[in-house]
Amino acid sequence: MEMLINGKAAPAANATWIDVKNPATGESVDRVPRGSRDDVDAAVEAADAAFGAWSEKTMRDRGLLLARAAEMVRRDHKQLAELLTREQGKPLHESIDEVRGCANILEYYASIAGQPAGETVNLGKAGDCLVTRVPLGVCGAIIPWNMPVLIMGWKVGPALLAGNSLVLKPASTTPLTNLKIAGLLQEAGLPAGVLNVVTGTGEMVGEALVRHAKIKKISFTGNCATGHRIRALAGDHLKALTLELGGSDPMIVMADADIPRAVEGALRGRFYNAGQICTAVKRLYLHEKIAGEFMHLLTTRVESIKIGNGLLAGTEMGPLNNAAQMDRISNVVQEATNRAEGKILTGGSPVTGKEYENGFFYRPTLIADVPPDAAVLRDEIFGPVLPVMTVPDLGTAIREANRSQYGLGASVWTRDLPTVKEVFQNVHAGIIWVNRHLTVPPEVPFGGTNESGIGRENGFHALDSYTQTKTLFLGW
Ligand code: NDP
Repeated sequence: MEMLINGKAAPAANATWIDVKNPATGESVDRVPRGSRDDVDAAVEAADAAFGAWSEKTMRDRGLLLARAAEMVRRDHKQLAELLTREQGKPLHESIDEVRGCANILEYYASIAGQPAGETVNLGKAGDCLVTRVPLGVCGAIIPWNMPVLIMGWKVGPALLAGNSLVLKPASTTPLTNLKIAGLLQEAGLPAGVLNVVTGTGEMVGEALVRHAKIKKISFTGNCATGHRIRALAGDHLKALTLELGGSDPMIVMADADIPRAVEGALRGRFYNAGQICTAVKRLYLHEKIAGEFMHLLTTRVESIKIGNGLLAGTEMGPLNNAAQMDRISNVVQEATNRAEGKILTGGSPVTGKEYENGFFYRPTLIADVPPDAAVLRDEIFGPVLPVMTVPDLGTAIREANRSQYGLGASVWTRDLPTVKEVFQNVHAGIIWVNRHLTVPPEVPFGGTNESGIGRENGFHALDSYTQTKTLFLGW
């Protein structure tokens, strides 16, 4: 598949390629150009040229186009989902959810076109101010491999509705579905150059984008270290930034919780997408009164998860996305074992057997009795491994939950309103769920504090972040 620059399929200026492989089988799915600085320059120039006319359209016209694109994504959802599974690994039903999630977010932004009205400020005799919002210009979006289609929607929807043009860099292991969806936006009538996709490595294409003087904002989702580097590079031109850098979400289950419901919450919260979600449940804190019952139920459910190629019917968990992921997850569990940090209840190793030998399959893993200062609680585990701690009371749960450099999401499972209040007021996170985890609807701002990043995606908050105010001061 080729890149999309100025509305046309573009090979790499340097004519070299990246092979995109199926993480379940190791087979090649397709290849994409290994883009260069010249390709980034060409894409930014195209976006810059397209910006004026695009930003002059009404927001309603831009919204109608997003709605048309959403319809096309829905129309083609089966093919898109299959391609996503082949490049990313997740089970087909999760890919279908994700593709629909992308259509939902485009539709959501279409639906709020025209609603953000700006403001007026009455200054008495001195005058009145009309405060309007204008787009930033050319923006850059850098996409990770874990949920590439949904996260593309999170960035493309608000950026384009606000009137910006965009250069998007997909992750090197999952560029294909992103390119297909960019093609659909084009087919829906997006003018050439408004959305460009440059494939290639983070070090080359990603950094060239971040360094480019004409880029006004970077929206990045990915690893913390990369986020810090991007922040440093973007500082040179005072670019606006949205950084979504992951998390180590705690899930707190109190003694009064609906236990079967909470078990299902933990199962989905940790093992959906093979645990490769920034806001997955990464630490489980169980009240000691229900810990035994909870772990019995959870272990039984975890051991029943059907692992396999995401394209096969009945698969509940696919492979990890890439070799580096497999190494990271294997090492994290190996080191916990070496340091005797907890007891492995189930899992703890790659899946063996003929059908798994060419893929990155890791067994869903539960580690119990983890000491509070263990590395598995401190670091983000981006895979199907869940450390569990037992706590005597809510105060301890909150203290332990806050013992993390991250602050993306957190959940509490309880029927008691004062418990909800305590958690909401005291746990450091951008979103606190009650009797839920993971759900991130388009209307709801999403993002975290501390090392989890800067800014918010979704809702009006994301739309605002792709604009700046411009004020007309009428001095009467
Ligand atoms: P990265 O941060 O390296 O990758 C995310 C995106 O950034 C990719 O498109 C990547 O390109 C690009 N990129 C990489 N380096 C640079 C750079 N210097 N400048 C600009 N762009 C760059 O994540 P990894 O793939 O290394 O994943 C590692 C870990 O990151 C995971 O284990 C997890 O902890 C975290 N992560 C968090 C995510 C989240 O949702 N918050 C999503 C994905 C990962 P390329 O693919 O070409 O390297």
